Amino acid sequence: MARGHQKALSQQRNLKKQDAAKKGQGIDQKTAAQKALNFKCVVCMSQLPDPKTYKQHFEVRVQFINCSTSTFV
Ligand SMILES: [Zn+2]
Repeated sequence: MARGHQKALSQQRNLKKQDAAKKGQGIDQKTAAQKALNFKCVVCMSQLPDPKTYKQHFEVRVQFINCSTSTFV
């Protein structure tokens, strides 16, 4: 009986450990995602995940702005 009870207890502990690990991973992924959005577009304030995307986005934006200003000018 005692052994069975201990086994159940250790199983519960293992489950808790796994849960904690899962939660920890979730937090890590969230932080990583937030960290990844370090590139903020100065034009429209969008957050971009990496320099390449930022550059592409910025080029499109700047072209768009140039076009619209030249239309107005
Ligand atoms: Zn932008």
